[in-house]
Amino acid sequence: LLRLRGIRRSYGEKLVLDGVDLDVDTHEVVALVGASGSGKSTLLRTINLLETIDDGVILLDGEDVSDPRVDADRVRARIGVVFQHYNLFPHLSVLDNVTLAARLVHRMPRAAAEAKALELLDSVGLAEFAKAFPDRLSGGQQQRVAIVRAIATGPELLLLDEVTSALDPELVGEVLALVRSLADRGTTIVMATHEMAFAREVADRVVFLDAGRIIEDAPAREFFASPREARTREFLARFL
Ligand code: ATP
Ligand code: MG
Repeated sequence: LLRLRGIRRSYGEKLVLDGVDLDVDTHEVVALVGASGSGKSTLLRTINLLETIDDGVILLDGEDVSDPRVDADRVRARIGVVFQHYNLFPHLSVLDNVTLAARLVHRMPRAAAEAKALELLDSVGLAEFAKAFPDRLSGGQQQRVAIVRAIATGPELLLLDEVTSALDPELVGEVLALVRSLADRGTTIVMATHEMAFAREVADRVVFLDAGRIIEDAPAREFFASPREARTREFLARFL
C-alpha cells in the first residue's frame, strides 16, 4: 500500500531523515520506535505530505504522491491522522468533529455522515457524548474521539503519532484498546510510539529509527526477542 524510497529531509544543516526505505502492506500494523528526535514524527508527516522532502519517492497504492504536481489534499483525504495532542475543534460537538471531514472533504450528505459517525461512536462506547462539546470529555475520551474522527471517512491508512503520550497513565489503556480493536479489524496503521509493550502486542512489524535512519525493521516478536543490531539492544535496554 505504501512504499517509501530514499526519503531525505534536512532542517538547515541537520539531516532528520537520512535515506528512509519503508514498505507497509494493506492490513499491516507497523510501529515506529526510537529515541526522541530520531525522526518518527517527521516520517509520519512526510507520509501525510506535510513535509517537503529533499529526496526520495513516496508511493501510495503505486501512485507517486511525492510528485509536486499531485494534489496533496486529495492524498490526505485517503489518510487518517491522529497526533499526540488531541486536536478536536473545541467549538464543535463530538458529532460535528467526527463528521466534518466526511461532509466537507468527501461531500457526504449530513444524514449519512451522522449515521456513520454515531455507529462508530457507539462501537467505542462514546455515543452518549455525541452532542457534547470536547471539554466535557476526559483526555482519553477526547483522544478516542480524535481516532474515530480519523477513521470516519474510511481512510486507506491510519497514522498515529504518540497518541497516548499526553494522557494521564490511567487513561492510556482505553486509547490503546481502541487502537488494538482497529488493528484487529484490519486497519492499516503506522504508529510512532514509546509504549514498547503495546508495540510488541499489536504491531506486526517494528521499525527502529536512530538519527533519521532505519536501523532495524523486523517482525515484532523477533524485534523484541532477538534484536539483530547493537543499537536496537541498547535502545530496548532502557525499557527493561
Ligand atoms: P519524539 O519522540 O520526541 O516525538 P521524533 O522521533 O518524533 O521525536 P522528530 O519530531 O521527527 O522526532 O524530530 C526529528 C528531528 O528534527 C529533531 O532533531 C528535531 O529537532 C528536528 N526538527 C523537527 N521539526 C523541525 C523544524 N520544524 N525545524 C527544525 N528542526 C526540526
Ligand atoms: Mg515525535
